[in-house]
Amino acid sequence: MNKHLIMAALCCYSSFSFAGFDVITLGAKGGIQDGNLTAFMLKSNTDNNYITLDAGSIVNGLIAATNKGAFNDMMAPISSPYTQEGYILTQKIQGYFISHAHLDHIAGLIIASPDDSNKPIYALPSVHQTISQDYFNWKAWPNFTSQGEGFKLGKYELAPLTINQWLPIANTELKVKAFPLSHSGAESTAFLFKNAANEVIIYLGDTGPDAVEKSTALDTIWQQIAPYIQQKKLKGIFIETSFSNSTPDKLLFGHLTPRWLLTELDSLAGYVGGEQPLKDLNVIITHIKHSLKKGTNPQTVIEQELQADNKLGVNFIFTEQGDRTLL
Ligand SMILES: [Zn+2]
Ligand SMILES: [Zn+2]
Repeated sequence: MNKHLIMAALCCYSSFSFAGFDVITLGAKGGIQDGNLTAFMLKSNTDNNYITLDAGSIVNGLIAATNKGAFNDMMAPISSPYTQEGYILTQKIQGYFISHAHLDHIAGLIIASPDDSNKPIYALPSVHQTISQDYFNWKAWPNFTSQGEGFKLGKYELAPLTINQWLPIANTELKVKAFPLSHSGAESTAFLFKNAANEVIIYLGDTGPDAVEKSTALDTIWQQIAPYIQQKKLKGIFIETSFSNSTPDKLLFGHLTPRWLLTELDSLAGYVGGEQPLKDLNVIITHIKHSLKKGTNPQTVIEQELQADNKLGVNFIFTEQGDRTLL
């Protein structure tokens, strides 16, 4: 068999056993840079439609992704009335998953809402309550949802998630299961997504470490996802590292540092068991805060601190706005 045939055989064999996920970073930062706040597009590699993981920045992220060529294989048809970013927003994004209602996770959705297409906003009931009462209430913003105060424009269905229960996501091949997270008094959410090949990927919204939050939320999630790692079905973990190790616990306000993330990953490794159980696991670092101070870039410090103590051998991934990443 010549080299090309071997490559083709490998390609086709792997497409049966492995689909993977496609991620586009719309917003990479945990604050304070408006226009680049936490949001990712996600789909299965065997699917055409995306959902978003949080929605801190939407249109600005779509413009950045268009400029970086992330949508070169899904160009708006000539007949479409939309720009490229308009086409992706209105035709390709089939729903939003909001981990919690802090502005840095939902501002992009609110601002884009007048020109958005109809789609569900998936979240836990406590998150929907804040979205409905505090944003789409005709005082902060017109009510584009189908519930809550005043006239309902009905563009967004607030689709509730039930903790620890699989739910099919309309117009995609994905299913989702939600888990609560503890975020300094606020309820945040982790979303576990499964594709048609039974592969999974997990996205965690803002969270503090269990020890600081006096919670077992992360411990519960680690127990739940350990079997997928044993079966080599987990394609990646999105998790925050907002601050560097120099931040004392009392100033974390429901966030993680490199030290705390590594501690949490150690507990996950304990549930998986065996030799180097998390070796090469994709861990996508989210929510690093933009800094207004001169000197070292927080991302450089966080990256160094994570790598310096990476005894587990995980594959830390740092993405920038507009990047497309296959996992
Ligand atoms: Zn946040
Ligand atoms: Zn938050």
